[in-house]
Order: sequence, then structure tokens, then C-alpha cells
Amino acid sequence: MLLKWWSTLLGATNIYQQQSIISTYQQEQNTLSTYNNNNIVIKINYNNNKDDNNNLLKIINKNNMDIWDYQTNTITVMTNKNQLNELSSSYNIEELLSNKELKNAIKIPDIKQKTNLSIINEDIYFFKDYQPLSIITSWMELLSSLYSNHTFLINIGKSYENRNIKGFKIGNDENKKTIIIMGGTHSREWISISTINYIAYNLITLYEKDEEINKMINNFNFIIIPTINPDGYLYTWENDRLWRKNRQSTHIDYCTGIDLDKSFPFQWKLSNNDPCSESFSGLLPNQGYESNQLINFIQNLQKNTTIVGIIDLHAYSQQILYPFGYNCHDIPPSLENLEELAIGLSKSIRLQSNHIYISKQACKGNIIDNLGGSSLDWFYHDANIKYSYQIKLRDRGAYGFLLPKEHIIPTGKEIFNSILYFGKYLNGDFEF
Ligand SMILES: [Zn+2]
Repeated sequence: MLLKWWSTLLGATNIYQQQSIISTYQQEQNTLSTYNNNNIVIKINYNNNKDDNNNLLKIINKNNMDIWDYQTNTITVMTNKNQLNELSSSYNIEELLSNKELKNAIKIPDIKQKTNLSIINEDIYFFKDYQPLSIITSWMELLSSLYSNHTFLINIGKSYENRNIKGFKIGNDENKKTIIIMGGTHSREWISISTINYIAYNLITLYEKDEEINKMINNFNFIIIPTINPDGYLYTWENDRLWRKNRQSTHIDYCTGIDLDKSFPFQWKLSNNDPCSESFSGLLPNQGYESNQLINFIQNLQKNTTIVGIIDLHAYSQQILYPFGYNCHDIPPSLENLEELAIGLSKSIRLQSNHIYISKQACKGNIIDNLGGSSLDWFYHDANIKYSYQIKLRDRGAYGFLLPKEHIIPTGKEIFNSILYFGKYLNGDFEF
């Protein structure tokens, strides 16, 4: 399916442009990381009763452990080896990533080695590795200029550090309904950004070549946003591979960043008072700088079009989540439809790659009692987007956020297949 596109793209640029793309690879990068030498990633098994949950949460919060994932009876955290004693007396603990593995995985990529690759001869070079922000931006500019009949580069807004939050708009008929696909909310979830790029690339380049894609683009306009949090993404390349939040300042000088997925104004809840925490929600609703830009963008867009669906890509754990996240007591009015489509998405992934993605309501199996202010709930409730989903991509815990680059194309393929399913479902193709 992939074409000899990189050479095509580079062929269309002049030498100066090629050099500027390559030289961004050569910029001096500092060594990682702010993470301390004793860190490891562990999975804690617990009993899921109220006392046990409260006790565990207390330990996690007190020690400011960084939560990577949670399931019904397990929670995965990155923590300091010295903090293990308190946990291991009460809980069964598995080490997922040793200190050495973690240290190796978060190393800054060897930028110089990248420049030695003959990128012009590599058909799918762009998807063979994760790409830094500067390369993604050049690539987006190039792709939209080469396919300018149906692809437009748009600005969603500005980041806190004044970068443009860029997106593609695919399709040019203003009367059509719109589907939004976005990623990069959490900086360290690199696979979400590469997957968005893979989806965009295929939709853009296969239009007028593939009947199924033609139908999709003829039925809907697509807004595709590779990273809503460019400052954070850049920070993960230059300073700290495991950074999660954005980069705005807080009320404490040395603690930076708000968790954008906890700062939306619907059912917002103070996650904790500690702005050093990776899950700091801000002190008030809607303080997240880039999430606020997205809200304004969506509200403006809705003056001219109906947004029928939104998919927000995250990592990891292979789950398809639908509203609500903030609790399981309030039932979304269209729960059956949300469930039905989620199961279809999950099936479309399995048929493509044999990988299992569990579909469920976001509130289920969660001991962290602070899922207020999520984008998923805001999209569904306040923005009234009937089909709102968050998909957590590969893997199921072996590498977590440090997913090897060999997964980029397979993950892209399986999620692209689910996007085709999403479009067909929203178009009513499966109604009898
Ligand atoms: Zn995330």
C-alpha cells in the first residue's frame, strides 16, 4: 500500500529544502534525563476492595509514583527502587523494566547515525522510526503542498511556548460532516503521533487511487492533528523521554506542566495539589493551555459543520474507551451505539493484525478516582460529538511508552483499518 513516497516527496523539493530537513537531525541534543538512576517500572497486583485500593493509592500518591497503566487488578508505575519495601510487604510485585532496561530505552536517539541513512532510497523511511517535531512539520508542509487539491495545512492554535499546533484538513466541501483524529496529548506516547501520521499519509495519498478511500473523503472532511502538545513532544526528544504533560508554568516555579487530559471543563476535578505530579490537572477547570486552544477550535468549527466523530489516540494497553470516564453511574444517552461501534473497531483491528483491543467504558476497572476533566467526556458531553473514543495503542505492557519502532507500521495498519470501519459505520453502511 505504501508508495515510493519519500523519494517522491524529496524529489519535489529543492536541494536547500533537503539540506534543511537533514540538518535538523544534526542539531545538538542534550543527554537525557531527569529520571533518577534508581527508577524501575513495576506491576502491582492488588485485590480491588475499597481498603486495599485506598491504601495502595495512598502509597502511590505519597511517593509521587508515575502511573503508567491501570487495569482491574493491576497498576503499573515507575518508581524508585528504594520505595519498594513499603509495597512488597503488602502486594505481589512484578518488575517489568529494570533500571538498566529503562536507562537504555530512554536514551536520546543517536541523531548523527540517522543522517548517515540514505533516506532518498528508503521507500518508507518516515515510518521506520519515530520522527522529531521539526521533521514532522516539514513533512506535513510537503505533503499538503503535493496534494493541495484535497489537503490543507491548518492551525488549531498556539502552544504555550508559541508553536503552531498544526493539522491537516482533508476534503474541501464545506457542507460535509467532519471526523477528527488526534494524538500526542501525552508527550511520551510517541506511537500515537506516528499512527496519526500513518493514517493521514494513507488518506491523503490514496485518494483518487482507492475506491474505499474515495468514498471516505467524499463522505466526510477529516481534521487530523498529529500532536496537540508540540512543546511536550519536543521536550521528550531533547530532555526527558518520559515527560507526559505540556510545558506551561504553574504556581510553583520548578514544577512545570498540566496533564491536558485532566484539564477539560466537564466534570473537572482537582487531581492533587502537586504541580510536580505527572497527572496535575491545574488548579481550576480549563487551565491547560493547548486543551483550551482545542476547545476554541472545535467550537468555531462547529459553527460551520457537524462533527460526527472523534478519535483521540493514546498509549498504551490496547483498549478502545468510550464515555463516560468520570464515573460509571451516569449513563451516556447513546451507550448502545457507543458500545456497538467500539466492538466493531476492535474487530476491525483483530481482522487486520490479530491483535486484541478490549473495548469498554473509560470508567471501568479504574482505581484512580480522578478521571474528571477528560477530553473524552468533554467531546461527548459538552461538544456533543456522538461518537467519541479514546484508543490506547500498543502494547500491553512489555515496553509500555517505550514501544520499539518496529511497531510503528503494524500499529499504523491496524488502526488505519479501524478508521475505515469508523467512517463506514458513521456513513450508515452497516444499517439494514
Ligand atoms: Zn495518554
